[in-house]
Amino acid sequence: MSNQNQAPLMQVNGLIKEFQAGEQVIRVLHGIDLSIYQGEMVAIIGQSGSGKSTLMNILGCLDKASAGDYQIFGKSVSRLDADELAKLRREHFGFIFQRYHLLGDIDAKDNVAVPAVYAGMDNQARSDRAKKLLTDLGLGDKTGNRPSQLSGGQQQRVSIARALMNGGDIILADEPTGALDSKSGADVMQILRDLNDAGHTIIMVTHDPSIAEQADRVIEIKDGLILKDYLTGQQKTAQAVPMSVLQRHQKSAFGSFIDRLAEAFKMSLLAMRAHKMRTLLTMLGIIIGIASVVSVVGLGKGSQAQILSNISSLGTNTITVTDGYPFGDPRRQYNDKNLTPQDAQAVADQPYIVSVSPQLSSNTNIRYRNIEEAASVSGVGQDYLAVSGETLAQGQGFDEQSILRRTQDIIIDHNAKTTFFADIPDPIGEVLLIGSVPGRVIGVLAPNTSGFARNADTPTIYMPYTTMMSRIKGTPYIESFIALINNNISSSAAETAISTLIESRHGTDDFRIRNSDSIRQTIEATTSTMTLLISSIAIISLIVGGIGVMNIMLVSVTERTNEIGVRMAVGARQSDIMQQFLIEAILVCILGGLLGIGLAYAIGELINRIGGDSFQVIYSPTSIIAAFLCSTLIGVVFGFLPARNAARLDPVDALSRD
Ligand code: ADP
Ligand code: MG
Repeated sequence: MSNQNQAPLMQVNGLIKEFQAGEQVIRVLHGIDLSIYQGEMVAIIGQSGSGKSTLMNILGCLDKASAGDYQIFGKSVSRLDADELAKLRREHFGFIFQRYHLLGDIDAKDNVAVPAVYAGMDNQARSDRAKKLLTDLGLGDKTGNRPSQLSGGQQQRVSIARALMNGGDIILADEPTGALDSKSGADVMQILRDLNDAGHTIIMVTHDPSIAEQADRVIEIKDGLILKDYLTGQQKTAQAVPMSVLQRHQKSAFGSFIDRLAEAFKMSLLAMRAHKMRTLLTMLGIIIGIASVVSVVGLGKGSQAQILSNISSLGTNTITVTDGYPFGDPRRQYNDKNLTPQDAQAVADQPYIVSVSPQLSSNTNIRYRNIEEAASVSGVGQDYLAVSGETLAQGQGFDEQSILRRTQDIIIDHNAKTTFFADIPDPIGEVLLIGSVPGRVIGVLAPNTSGFARNADTPTIYMPYTTMMSRIKGTPYIESFIALINNNISSSAAETAISTLIESRHGTDDFRIRNSDSIRQTIEATTSTMTLLISSIAIISLIVGGIGVMNIMLVSVTERTNEIGVRMAVGARQSDIMQQFLIEAILVCILGGLLGIGLAYAIGELINRIGGDSFQVIYSPTSIIAAFLCSTLIGVVFGFLPARNAARLDPVDALSRD
């Protein structure tokens, strides 16, 4: 040991390691004292179960001692936290395992490059270096091969390249030839000796004395204590100084973060691809949840829009005043009669009113030639069409003269036309008998599409309200009137004003008043409530879906514990591991969310096809963005626990699981 005059690279004093096995505590290392110097090639030898791997794992900062002190570069390791230990492993150690521990989903080059991803090495430099290392180790033509496409010896050379990726000043090899045939084993030993000549400190564990003899120094342990520590007399060439790789190709902190994110993303996609069916089933909950939220909101919006457009077709902004005290009022009597045409006129005179149509109605039999049918008869004002939003298909409406002269002109609706004039294309001028009163048809209404037609099938005819009052009902009263209010005045203000006006005329509030805006608001509120209700059910399904995702992520973490161990051994931070599994959970949820949105669109398209013009599902961008954010959130929330479990795994425990 030519360099014992310098400070030791690693120094171990009174190192004790105990394991908890059930209720028993097993002491595996009984107080090891050891110094290892820069540039040494040390073989730790001993029988199986003597504690070699345990010692090696502690030296490599994969495991912590139970007691005693371990210093590396003059610093005590016991005070370092998980991320500082990861940094040590990343920047100074290179591990070579008996069973290679390569990641099965990625090719040789990517396996070699993993430590550099966590170290933040520039992409090009990373790729070049991985290729060069593989080429140097005779695997130049195998860079694209997966581990399963390589022999044991080749896999071990890939793992040596990985150990060297970040520099690997200190190489820790646990039975590196243990799983290899003698020829491959000899190759690996030659590589290790060459690396030692190039300045790498090599610490190797073996149970084979002939392998141990190839090191400069052999430490034999037995039952957790050092039995012998001697030099073999191997000739060493001149010591080279190990190169620093990382500093030269370092990325910015942000660039490095993005790289690690990309790596996590790639690994997530690979994992999802490896378990397509499972991933799809996991997504199903999210797909159904998101699809139902989006379609329910779309349906709600669609029906709301339809109802609102129906209301608009009733006349934009109307106020209806009806005679009689409100329902439930003790003063209310069966036949309150107190609303007069003069009340309607007084309202019509107000500046904020466009027009008013008084109204009274009754049910009467109507006869035309030999057809007799029960019909609804309404007396209306000259502005009825404007106020009601109805349109004429044929003929004309009432005018001032019709009202003043109480003409016996009538307007019939579409039902009346089909009932009485099925064979007569132009019924204008025909005469109907309303009870015993004849009425001449002057106009035909267009079919009512609003869905608010009072009598869906009953024929309805309209006559001047004055005619109706005197000839049909014999009353000085009207039953109600509809006022069309100016668009630039608020309907509630108009409602209050009209209410005050009529109350002052009557001296009491013996009438009911209602504006179309309040109907609109009621409908909006009702559909919103429905949407909220169904959405909350959908949200429950999303939560159930999220639990499914969590469950599968826990399985995924368990399945890939070994991979996590490998990543930690090459220097992944806890946050890197966390990120990887979180991204996987989020990805599953986002993909599920997108499929769900797609499904909702497909359902909507179907409904729109069936519904034709009368009903359209309306997708709001907000609900889609919300669905997207929601699925991301589910990924984060339900992926967090499994991801944290993964990140908190102990490197040695993780590595030892297969
Ligand atoms: P070697 O590598 O020399 O074959 P190890 O260091 O792997 O031996 O193990 C030494 C002893 O410690 C063994 O008896 C083993 O059963 C025990 N041991 C190792 N790891 C654990 C653990 N995580 N829990 C309990 N016992 C362990
Ligand atoms: Mg071992």
